[in-house]
Amino acid sequence: MVVGVLVELSNKNIDRVFEYSVPEELTSLMKVGIRVLVPFGKMELEGFVLNIKNHKDTDKDLKEVISVVDSSVVLNSELLELGKDIQKSTLSTLISCYQVMLPKALKAKNGSNVSIRFDTYYSLNDNITFDKLNETQEKIINLVKEKGIVLKKELADISISSLNTLIRKGYLKEDKKEHYRVLYKEKEFVKKKLTSDQESVVNSVINGNNDTYLIYGVTGSGKTEVYMEIIDHYLKLGKTSIVLVPEISLTPQMVNRFRERFGDKIAALHSALSDGEKYDEWRRIYRGEASIVIGARSAIFAPLNDIGVIIIDEEHSDSYKQSDSNPRYNAKDIALLRSKYHNCPVVLGSATPSLETMARAKKGVFKLLELPNRVNGKSLPKVSIIDMNERKKSKGYFSFELLNSIKDRLEKNEQIILLLNRRGYSNFVTCKNCGYTFKCPNCDITLTYHKSSNTLRCHYCGYGEKVYKKCPECKEESLSNLGVGTQKIEEELNKLFPNSRILRMDYDTTSRKGMHEEMIEEFKDHKYDILLGTQMVAKGLDFSLVTLVGVINADTSLNIPDFRSSENTFSLLSQVAGRSGRSEKTGEVIIQTFNPDHYAIDLVKTHNYLGFYEKEMNIRRMLKYPPYYYLCNIRVSGKDADYIYTESLKIKRSLDRNIPNDIVLGPSNSSVFRVNNIFRYNIIIKYKKDDDLYEILNKIIEHYKTNSKIKVDIDFNPSQVL
Ligand code: ADP
Ligand code: ZN
Repeated sequence: MVVGVLVELSNKNIDRVFEYSVPEELTSLMKVGIRVLVPFGKMELEGFVLNIKNHKDTDKDLKEVISVVDSSVVLNSELLELGKDIQKSTLSTLISCYQVMLPKALKAKNGSNVSIRFDTYYSLNDNITFDKLNETQEKIINLVKEKGIVLKKELADISISSLNTLIRKGYLKEDKKEHYRVLYKEKEFVKKKLTSDQESVVNSVINGNNDTYLIYGVTGSGKTEVYMEIIDHYLKLGKTSIVLVPEISLTPQMVNRFRERFGDKIAALHSALSDGEKYDEWRRIYRGEASIVIGARSAIFAPLNDIGVIIIDEEHSDSYKQSDSNPRYNAKDIALLRSKYHNCPVVLGSATPSLETMARAKKGVFKLLELPNRVNGKSLPKVSIIDMNERKKSKGYFSFELLNSIKDRLEKNEQIILLLNRRGYSNFVTCKNCGYTFKCPNCDITLTYHKSSNTLRCHYCGYGEKVYKKCPECKEESLSNLGVGTQKIEEELNKLFPNSRILRMDYDTTSRKGMHEEMIEEFKDHKYDILLGTQMVAKGLDFSLVTLVGVINADTSLNIPDFRSSENTFSLLSQVAGRSGRSEKTGEVIIQTFNPDHYAIDLVKTHNYLGFYEKEMNIRRMLKYPPYYYLCNIRVSGKDADYIYTESLKIKRSLDRNIPNDIVLGPSNSSVFRVNNIFRYNIIIKYKKDDDLYEILNKIIEHYKTNSKIKVDIDFNPSQVL
């Protein structure tokens, strides 16, 4: 027997199948889709078995497989084929496409420290007569009699020797069973009666032709309820479902709503889980014990059989695109591929669909379904835009309008959410005397101040240093922290409203495991009046007492030099506005800005998504951006800036020659030119048809693959070009 093995080494040069012979004793264990250990040069590597044959293809002697890693298939035939499709569409290595599908515990090298956990438990042996027992022994026996089985950890304060005696005498037997780290509580569930709008959306999907649907529904229109109803339909048919949500809205609130309805049929995959917990969830899915998977981007690869529906909530979110490493895939594309295989519908949902998706819906490629009203029958909250250029009208970071409204809500005992928009924003330190700013020695970026550890850190390479009192340049004690952080706002709020209870939620305060969950629970229980935070507070949250949402600074996300900055700003502001007035009480929204006339801000006032869509589409058409053109970014990077630039020019010229109908821009410095002492150039291709594009890009990759001085990364449909 001969097997074709793809080894786990992400290197363009060896990203192909190597043949190995299988020793007699392993032949019965061999299956396509398991991992094996094989000799490779001087190393021993793990790899995936991609085919099994009777004869070798070469004349050379084959090396032998050393051992089998998995007892059952980790990548089934669907996922093996899917990996090949991803490889073709992203031009990354095939091995990286398989690795991205599996939990860390199942990847070479990382697997060693994640184990399957077992619980030891005791039960009574059959047909026994007891001798005389001492007091402790009697206690144990009675407990086991009463409960049937007793876990070892329930006997933690009981002496081991008594236990051992009972086992030795044959009274008790010891067994082990596999135990999952994540436990699920059953909850009571009262099904909501759907509104007629909700019902008609559900019916369109479940009675349709397994198309792709866009549910364009305002915030609070009951999209989540609709998703659950659709899932329930397929569950009753014995089918499985995937629900993707952005990491940021994978809050316990969201997961709990699903869990209340579907109990332990749910598996939740998110970054707050440890590698072990993720592995356990993956095994529950793999074994068919969980049939509804809810998770962030990579949950799209859940090893489910017989998928009934794939749902992507907040479909406009850029978190569905993997941009920082290969393969640079978009979970939405993978959803379409998997839906073809399973012949099932895909449901995209958003209050502010991405331009690409809405354009497809308008063309009829996706089926458009609308939920134009809030479930509570109320209109959307009233939005006021405050011009912060008129400084007289403000006190510190707060306009008088916002201050008055906060005061009013506090008096009425209602709750408030305040958003500090920090997208693309940093909290840097500068000298008021000489203007010195602290920069990273390895990257072209200012260092960010972290108050909790009193350090300056680089968000790109992780470099950190202590904060000095004196400026290293002019030696004056005149350093000041320029950026506005949530901590500063919190201090100011405390002064302005000393009796209010303020909860700050940002990267710093939620880093400890479970903190995020705790905070949301406590705010829901009205242990706090004001929830102050970054993007984290903008999405997915549903608090009935919140009647005021304030945006302290709407503009930072507008200033990012990216073609999607208007879209992202409009969408963020609309989302956070949607947190207000979700229950009986009417809501209000106050947005502070230095650009009150900018359409991405002005149109939030009237909740005018379609107006924004038309306006932005015009701009994209004029500037030749998506959805009118596709984009592909080629990032060329390396240590020697001159060399990299020369090679980038060669690439650009070769593209000009080979794809003359496309627009090729660059090479230009990426917005942070140097990261960790690596220089980076971008070449951007704008194209309508990809006729010869893949072929020429493949040639470029081939040309440089053995050159260690230069790295060429391709990103199709990048979420942003910086
Ligand atoms: P969206 O996801 O569109 O923002 P949600 O699904 O979170 O909306 O619904 C908003 C609120 O309305 C939630 O508190 C939800 O429990 C409630 N809700 C949704 N549908 C119904 C319904 N048919 N009857 C009563 N309450 C509902
Ligand atoms: Zn750095």
